[in-house]
Amino acid sequence: MRTRRKFGRHFTIPASTANLNIVDRVPEPLNALVGMEIPDLRELLAGEPGYRAQQVYDALYGRRVTSVDEIRVLPAPLRSRLRDAAPLGLPGQDSVFLSADGTRRYLLRLADGKTVEAVFMPEEARDTLCISTQVGCPVDCRFCLTALMGLERNLTAGEIVGQVLHLARANHLWADARRINIVMMGMGEPLLNLPNVLKAVRILTASRGLGISPRRITVSTSGIIPKIAEMGQAEVRPRLAISLNASTEEQRRELMPITRKYHLNDLMAACRAYPLRTWEKLSFEYVLLRGVNDTDADARRLVRLLANINCKVNLIALNPGPGIQFETPDPDRVASFQAIVRKSAPCFLRKPRGRDIYAACGQLKRMTEEPPLVAIGG
Ligand code: SF4
Repeated sequence: MRTRRKFGRHFTIPASTANLNIVDRVPEPLNALVGMEIPDLRELLAGEPGYRAQQVYDALYGRRVTSVDEIRVLPAPLRSRLRDAAPLGLPGQDSVFLSADGTRRYLLRLADGKTVEAVFMPEEARDTLCISTQVGCPVDCRFCLTALMGLERNLTAGEIVGQVLHLARANHLWADARRINIVMMGMGEPLLNLPNVLKAVRILTASRGLGISPRRITVSTSGIIPKIAEMGQAEVRPRLAISLNASTEEQRRELMPITRKYHLNDLMAACRAYPLRTWEKLSFEYVLLRGVNDTDADARRLVRLLANINCKVNLIALNPGPGIQFETPDPDRVASFQAIVRKSAPCFLRKPRGRDIYAACGQLKRMTEEPPLVAIGG
C-alpha cells in the first residue's frame, strides 16, 4: 500500500493486482463529499466542532442533498468552506434508455469525464438497481460485452454510492426504500476493487447512511479467491454471488480465463469455507450457452460441484449481443437443465430484462459503440 497527499489529506491506494496479470489502474481518488464516512469528514472539517461531521454525513446520506447549499444546518461561512474544499461528487446523467419491460439503462458521467452504466429494473415486489464497480473490466469473460472494453479504472466508493443515489432519485424510490435491491453486477469485477466496494456498502447500509439492509445488496465475483476470503472477514458485508458458468475446469478456462489463475476446485473450496450468516445462502450464477455448457451432463456435474454448499442457483439464458460468439439455448434445454439442478438446490431462471436496450446481464458496454437505441432523456 502507498499513500498520496492531496487537498491536505492522505488517501490509500490499494496494492496492485499485477500478480493476476491484470493491470489494476487505480487513479488518484476524487476528494468528493459523497463517499466520505465520519472519519473522512472529521479530517476535512478539522478545526470545526466534532458534531459538524455527523451533520454533513446526515445531510449527504440521510437527506440526500444535491448541493452543499442545502445543508442549512451549517453556518454560511462553513458551507462556503465546504464547497471550496470538495465537490459533492454526484454523477451526471448523459442519457437514459427505456425498455418495453420498464427497465431503464443509464449512462452516467463521472467527474473525470469517464462513463459507467447502471440499470434500474422495476419488479412487482422490489426495485433492483444493477450498478458498476469499475470503468470497464479486466476479467476477460468470453460471453460478456463489458470485457471488450478492458479496464479503465476502479470506481471510488462515492462513485458506487452515487449510482444508487442517482437511480433512486430518478425513479422516486426513496418513498419506500425497503423495496430497493442492489446488485453489483454491472461493469467490473467488484472484488478487484474490494476496499471501495466495502466502503460503499458501509455507507449504503449504515442506519444514518442510506439504511439499506445488507441482505438486499449482492456482490458478484468471477472467482477472485483471496478476495472472497477477505470479504468474508468484513464486519459489514453484502451477500456474495459466484459467477460460475461452467461445470468443468477446462470449460471454465475457455469461458472465463481467470480460471487459469484461480482453479475451479480451489474456488469451490473457498465457497465451502465462506462464513455464511444464519440467514444467508451463497448464490451461483450460471449463464447457459447453447451447446457449450447447457447439457444434462453439465447440470449433473454442477450438482456435484455444489454438494455441501448452502446455496441457490440462478440460471441466465445468454443475452446475445454484437461481438458475442455464443447463442442462447432453446427453452426446452433450459427447462431440462433447471429440472436436474432443482432436485438438489433452489434453482431459478432469471428473466432477461431490458434486452431491447442492451441492459441485460453481460451487455453493459459503451452505448456510443452500439446500434442506435431510443433515448428518453439525458
Ligand atoms: S462478466 Fe463480470 S467479471 Fe466477467 S468480464 Fe463481464 S463484467 Fe467482468
